[in-house]
Amino acid sequence: MSSSSSSVTAEDQIHTHTHTSMGSAEIEPMGRCHVVALPYPGRGHINPLINLCKLLVSRSSDDLLITFVVTEEWLSFIGSEPKPANIRFRTIPNVLPSELVRSADMPSFIDAVLTKMEEPFEQLLDRLEQPPSLIMADVFVPCAVNVGKRRNIPVAAICPTSVSVFSVFYHFDLLVHNQHYPFDVSERGDERVGYIPGISSIRLVDLPTIFYESEQLLYNAVEMISHVDKAQFLLFTSIFELEAHVFNALKAKMPIPMYSFGPLIPHFTLGDGASDQMASHNDTNYHKWLDSQPQGSVLYISMGSFLSVSSAQMDEIAAGLRASGLRFLWVACGEASRLTEACGDAGMVVPWCDQLKVLCHSSVGGFWSHCGWNSTMESVFAGVPMLTFPLLMDQVPISKTIVEDWRIGWRVMKREGRMENLVGREEIADLVRRFMDLESAERQEMTRRARELQKISRQAMVKGGSSEVNLSAFVRVISQLTRTLS
Ligand code: UDP
Repeated sequence: MSSSSSSVTAEDQIHTHTHTSMGSAEIEPMGRCHVVALPYPGRGHINPLINLCKLLVSRSSDDLLITFVVTEEWLSFIGSEPKPANIRFRTIPNVLPSELVRSADMPSFIDAVLTKMEEPFEQLLDRLEQPPSLIMADVFVPCAVNVGKRRNIPVAAICPTSVSVFSVFYHFDLLVHNQHYPFDVSERGDERVGYIPGISSIRLVDLPTIFYESEQLLYNAVEMISHVDKAQFLLFTSIFELEAHVFNALKAKMPIPMYSFGPLIPHFTLGDGASDQMASHNDTNYHKWLDSQPQGSVLYISMGSFLSVSSAQMDEIAAGLRASGLRFLWVACGEASRLTEACGDAGMVVPWCDQLKVLCHSSVGGFWSHCGWNSTMESVFAGVPMLTFPLLMDQVPISKTIVEDWRIGWRVMKREGRMENLVGREEIADLVRRFMDLESAERQEMTRRARELQKISRQAMVKGGSSEVNLSAFVRVISQLTRTLS
């Protein structure tokens, strides 16, 4: 299907969706506050931005309309998810023929995001009935800042990862100055960097993997992050209280206002049954299965929305889980049916689930995670300790934060970075057994810490909490911008 023909289909789809599932005609922007949101085309980027949009419209009654711009492929993934009528989708063509390319060839995907989104995004803005008063765009879609500048539209850049990871890239010059870049990770991986403002000391091997894997991707990332101060606002998906030092240190340098809204997870859908619809195309028997398991007994395993580990490593994990005798729920995306057999009867393997709901289920006592930032925020919110299994990029420093700073998890691999050696089945069986031993002193301490962080994350969202205060302030900013324009 060509881009242009699928564009028509996608737009049709969304009109059908708006009229059927929302039961009302599409809202027109005229006379309202109008914001255009532009995420990077990936689950871990789209989810927090749409959650932010939902929170913003919920605070603005009918005054605010958000046009949420996704690639056609992403519309087919998220177009039927429930959303308020004042968020509407619009599409631009896919940056590459298929999202599948993304996991296979990350550099080409990133390159396509950098080079192929600007023009269609501008064309889309030209077609809008009313220009927006603000563009909210992912830090990793830097063209938004250029477009905003050309059109005199303020831009709020949203960072989809932790403030600490952002800050590491932002202070790249310090690493170079201190001769910590470039480095050979096999020789110097255990050296520690202790001078990034607000960040506790970090081993070189725990920096984002592109520091030692891809000079080109690293330079791209550093450029995108340093470009952020050309925007008018910088938004974080993190919980201020959990990264207060680094947030404040960054704020002292950043020439534009910063806001933290975390956790930007769909906590508002818990209990309303709406999020079940998101998983309705899949097997939702896992809800019933979880209901029938003892409290805290299930290990939930997920390695993210798009990356998968090698089949050989998946087989070792399956064999290790089976040998451990533990109960588990494993999201294995495309490998689910193959692994169901290998895993035996103790657990369930599913292709997808409603992750936040699963983590909040009382029978779930641990999360084996690839340490995507959203998964991490969800685990914190649920108060569930983690086994960290980062695969690449920011997942490695996030794992470090979980294990060393927050002390709510253990590493599956002692020395992280890109996995080269398989973690074997015996090691896995032994580790998960010890991790899920709820009676051990070490585990009890970890659970206690996880509950503390859970409390902090929930306090951030209630009246007077950092996230709540920032949301109210940002809603005021948006209406002020609209008033200035009209
Ligand atoms: N997710 C989900 N169901 C699954 C697996 C993942 O809903 O079975 C969601 C998860 O809740 C999170 C997002 O997908 O919000 C993944 O984002 P994250 O930043 O954790 O990782 P990424 O996939 O971007 O590496």
